[in-house]
Amino acid sequence: MNIRSCENCKKLFQSYGNSMCPKCIQEFDEKFTLVKNFLYDNPGSSMETICEETGVDSTHVMKWLREGRLMTDAHGPSLLTCLTCGTPIRSGKYCEECNAKLIRTLEGGKKAFAVEPKKTAEESKRKESRFHIKS
Ligand SMILES: [Zn+2]
Ligand SMILES: [Zn+2]
Repeated sequence: MNIRSCENCKKLFQSYGNSMCPKCIQEFDEKFTLVKNFLYDNPGSSMETICEETGVDSTHVMKWLREGRLMTDAHGPSLLTCLTCGTPIRSGKYCEECNAKLIRTLEGGKKAFAVEPKKTAEESKRKESRFHIKS
């Protein structure tokens, strides 16, 4: 059992791995359902409209969009921006271009790591001496 302070209301509560108290989790669940239903009925709404109509803070809406829990209409305005270049995006953290770049960087890193370590000085010396004996 772990006593920690709620991420939202800062009250102390018994945490079983949650960052928010049970009351806030329930509250957020209700807010999430509200926004989700609103977007379902009003696809393509702007962030201002969503916040005004549902009374939910835009930081929460953005968090759900980044987590991919909420999706906006494909023809509506983009409510998020890429964390790297600022291009408007619909979900997640990065635009397609930055995502591709990120994957390339990761793969490049893996390849570099997989390259065999350089032969030790001792090994190359041994090879040299063998070469001298042969000639
Ligand atoms: Zn709380
Ligand atoms: Zn980007």
